[in-house]
Amino acid sequence: MSLSTEQYAGATGLENLEMGAARIRVDDKKIINCHADLNQLVPFKYPWAWDKYLVGCANHWMPNEINMSADVLLWKSKDGLTPDERMIIERTLGFFSTADSLVANNLVLAVYRHITNPECRQYLLRQAFEEALHTHAYQYIIESLGMDESGIFNMYREIPAVAKKAAWALPFTQSLADPHFKTGDFASNQRLLRDLIAFYVVFEGIFFYVGFVQIFSIGRRNKMVGAAEQIQYIMRDESMHLNFGIDVINQIKYENPDIWTPAFQEQMIALIKEGVDLEYQYALDTMPRGILGLNATMFKEYLHFIGNRRLAQIGLPEQYPGATNPFPWMSEMIDLKKEKNFFETRVTEYQTGGALSWD
Ligand code: FE
Repeated sequence: MSLSTEQYAGATGLENLEMGAARIRVDDKKIINCHADLNQLVPFKYPWAWDKYLVGCANHWMPNEINMSADVLLWKSKDGLTPDERMIIERTLGFFSTADSLVANNLVLAVYRHITNPECRQYLLRQAFEEALHTHAYQYIIESLGMDESGIFNMYREIPAVAKKAAWALPFTQSLADPHFKTGDFASNQRLLRDLIAFYVVFEGIFFYVGFVQIFSIGRRNKMVGAAEQIQYIMRDESMHLNFGIDVINQIKYENPDIWTPAFQEQMIALIKEGVDLEYQYALDTMPRGILGLNATMFKEYLHFIGNRRLAQIGLPEQYPGATNPFPWMSEMIDLKKEKNFFETRVTEYQTGGALSWD
């Protein structure tokens, strides 16, 4: 089945305005394949999307407000960092700097078109800006430290450990960006759901976590505290992106139960396990000798723990029995209020007035 011109226009939100047409009711709203007016934000059908938009705004921050002077001194000193620590910092920036840009492009050029709900699109617009801030943060770190800019930004083409993850993700983003791709039937709805799982659960929900642990481990030793603080704000944003993606995925499943077949579930389990294996390989490639009190066994356990959580979050059975979190401090890092002095930098809550209560 293909969409008529009017139906396609409905999916873009650019349909002709018809005077006196029926008002939008909550029941008219659908997360995908909705043909009702997409310019009417309220009444909300998905309050979780609006809530996340408000939280995202309340958590607003800017990379250039974070003091990088201690990092610059340390990075330029001869013996402040070991060669292994330097390599980890460079590889992390190498993956993150292009990965967040890939995420932004995929959001704006692909995902946005197919999610046919105004409150979800409101969050997607906020998320897209946050991805831009993250790319800004990496550029700011790279520039502050006087790193080889093109070396870092080309790692996703040149360094196998970094390139493998980017290459894995590309097919899932390309199919969504295909201008001829439209949802509306079994196969295309299923393809959209698969690509969203690859994008939100694996790319955003697994592929950043070895880098997060590595940078925070360096920060916990009071080294590169500015970079670590930047990445801490980024991880807070990322955990919200992941939670939003999971809500979208579960909502699509709920509204389109026919596409969540046993065979499809098996494919999604395999996809997530593949992501876990790739991220483990990345840990081995970036720290072959084990440093910072971290070793390969701990990363395997951590990624199995994360893998189990991701599977459970979208209603799939856990695949790694008994996996526990060897880095319990990671969950505290997301809550900046608790840990705002973690890196002994200045005290910043970085919460704007978006969440004021009037009583
Ligand atoms: Fe993100």
